[in-house]
Amino acid sequence: MNQPILRLRDVRKRYPQGDDYLEVLKGINLDIYAGEFVAIMGASGSGKSTLMHILGCLDRASSGSYEFAGQEVGKLNDDELAWLRREAFGFVFQSYHLIAASNASENVEIPAVYAGQPAAERKQRAEQLLARLGLGDRLTHKPNQLSGGQQQRVSIARALMNGGSIILADEPTGALDSHSSKEVMALLTELAEEGHTVILITHDANVAAHADRVIEFKDGAIIRDDGTQATERAPMVSPALANIKQAVSGKSVSPLVENIEAVRMALRSLQENWFRTLLTLLGIVIGVGSVVAMLAIGEGARDDVLARISSMGTNLLVVRPGTGFQRRSADGSMASLMPEDVAVLAQLPNVITAVPESTKGVTARAGAFDTTTQVNATGADYPLLRDWQPQEGVFFSEEDSQRYAAVAVLGQTVARELFPNQSPIGEFVLLNSVPFQVLGVMSEQGATPWGQDADDIIFVPLTTGQLRLTGDRHLGSITVAVANTDLIDDTEEEVRQTLIRQHMGNEDFRVRNMAAIVETASAAQNTLTILLGSIAAISLLVGGIGVMNIMLVSVTERTKEVGIRRATGARTRNILQQFLVEAVVVSTLGGVVGVLGGVAVAATIGAWFMPVTFSVPIMVLAFACAAGTGLIFGFAPALKAARLDPVVALSS
Ligand code: ADP
Ligand code: MG
Repeated sequence: MNQPILRLRDVRKRYPQGDDYLEVLKGINLDIYAGEFVAIMGASGSGKSTLMHILGCLDRASSGSYEFAGQEVGKLNDDELAWLRREAFGFVFQSYHLIAASNASENVEIPAVYAGQPAAERKQRAEQLLARLGLGDRLTHKPNQLSGGQQQRVSIARALMNGGSIILADEPTGALDSHSSKEVMALLTELAEEGHTVILITHDANVAAHADRVIEFKDGAIIRDDGTQATERAPMVSPALANIKQAVSGKSVSPLVENIEAVRMALRSLQENWFRTLLTLLGIVIGVGSVVAMLAIGEGARDDVLARISSMGTNLLVVRPGTGFQRRSADGSMASLMPEDVAVLAQLPNVITAVPESTKGVTARAGAFDTTTQVNATGADYPLLRDWQPQEGVFFSEEDSQRYAAVAVLGQTVARELFPNQSPIGEFVLLNSVPFQVLGVMSEQGATPWGQDADDIIFVPLTTGQLRLTGDRHLGSITVAVANTDLIDDTEEEVRQTLIRQHMGNEDFRVRNMAAIVETASAAQNTLTILLGSIAAISLLVGGIGVMNIMLVSVTERTKEVGIRRATGARTRNILQQFLVEAVVVSTLGGVVGVLGGVAVAATIGAWFMPVTFSVPIMVLAFACAAGTGLIFGFAPALKAARLDPVVALSS
């Protein structure tokens, strides 16, 4: 009994007030020895609670010295103060300060959670304590299902959870009826008998009479102190309290255990606010889901286009007229390729065939039916070149071409529209009033890579078409089929040189090989994918902002909970972790559901409307983005919670 457990020397507390300050504690000198039962009395506003917050390390003095078992409290860091709060002190407040979302047993366990006690052990101890305080049948009741007296007993059990050598009780009976008051005072007296140091704040003289020593307060100063009384009780003091720094550095809670606890608490609080959680989740789910679905659709469209282009043949060179601002024919088409060029190109080595094409819009009529469509005036080798054969009848021959035969081959769409009830073979169609005899109908081709109906077309020999329909000898394109694709670059160059010679030195045309077209189309589709992807990414960002918003609301709503956790021993880091984990749990959950949802949507679209291509890296990336979103957008709110001042948070 030679060293006081708590020693205050000239402790002052000032609050700024305008330019001046308000001094709430005016130089307190106080020694309290282990095992004492002290009552602090005084009128409301005299500074009792302020003193208790300083004693309990919830607040710091503005000046003066506070020693705990001979160690200067002002020199302790955040971790050490947190340790002191949970290992040495037990708080009992007038308004109980229980966490509303947690049941009685869980509330009692909180100080042990931060001390790193294993779950089963602390549950058992909490239940024992509650049973001892007569609440054995109220373990799973939430605070709002308990009476005031019962809640106060829960908070006393919480104060005892980690030992509670020093019980700090701030008007513990202030909100209770007389019967409950008596019970609580009996309990505190019993604890004092057992050797706990009890510091009781009250303005009720009858309550104060339970204590061995009464200190009276007025306007922030002590006006009466009975002094330490001799008792026979053996004080309860943990030896660890004698060296706080050593105790804290020697015993650290494993991060894994802390994380498991944080996830458990996060799930609990998310469950508590399930509707809000659902809405937040929805934001992330939509974000992640749209990233996955949009990119699957984009990739699918690209793969499809590339497959179609490739199916047209990768051994083709396409020659088109014009390089830019070239002379044009009367109808506006580029004018430079001529039928003579076709024959020359067909003679080149490594060339299988060269097929001219010249298209024109026409009105086609047969009997009572008519339609507007495209005529493609081309060569007899067209089916070979495009690997597209007639389904019925035949394609026109080279001979038809040479004798300017008025014959036509119809695409499926045209055939269906002009001859809905009969076979068109051998019948006549009027193309811009010129009669052509139908030789065949092509097989169904479907849409072109550019989305047009490939079957809405009529083929006629180039010679006849130019003479009777287009009235123009210029060609729309010449397609050259190459025998050996390994030599396609050489052949391309040869085609170019030959045509320059044909055109008397003018390079008034372009040669493209299919590989180049595939590249261009692929680039165009990539742009589409990037566009879709960025829209989706924006929605993920919006989802992230939603998480932040909800977390900020949640922090504001749970300010008091933060205060309670700090008072029962949570470090700043624990609070940061708790809110951060909550944000990450929501967004991770949203990520998982989002990926699954995105896959489901894309798969549905794939099954009914258009091809889709799933990419695992994109799913992983989208999921990682979601988790990262939680981390990034959850950080600011979590930091806000962690930085809350315990006293301010408690009084919110
Ligand atoms: P008691 O518990 O004895 O009723 P308190 O310790 O709660 O009194 O308050 C003492 C005085 O300090 C009161 O006048 C109160 O207004 C003032 N006070 C408490 N907290 C603050 C604060 N954060 N800022 C300014 N004044 C405060
Ligand atoms: Mg008070």
